[in-house]
Amino acid sequence: MDDCIFCKIAKGEIPSNKAYEDDKVLAFYDLEPQAPVHILIIPKEHIVSAAEITEENSRVVAHIFEVAAKLAKEKKLDGGFRIVSNAGEDAGQSVKHLHFHLLGGRTFGWPAG
Ligand code: AMP
Repeated sequence: MDDCIFCKIAKGEIPSNKAYEDDKVLAFYDLEPQAPVHILIIPKEHIVSAAEITEENSRVVAHIFEVAAKLAKEKKLDGGFRIVSNAGEDAGQSVKHLHFHLLGGRTFGWPAG
């Protein structure tokens, strides 16, 4: 996707503060952190949102959760953490490339905050 900012970040065309990278996924620090630890984990392939996860592309989602667990350990989020993926307008998805927010380092309200 030519105009997708997260595709450009995945390709290194736009710089990011990386937390983890391999051939399938990239994790980088959110520009507007909502918690002491706020990392975005994305598939390198363009998937619009969680609404577009299928049998064909879901393997990378499992991998993203493995990466999230590894990062949570690395960042010592021993008290807990939250993983959020906003999908679509009602959820407030602002970037149309599947991403998972890994948030930690504070307590969280539910369902928001
Ligand atoms: P969402 O609103 O769930 O779509 O989340 C998109 C997230 O991407 C927001 O938390 C933004 O702060 C973050 N974001 C947008 N552009 C960048 C960027 N260039 N580098 C890091 N984070 C970004």
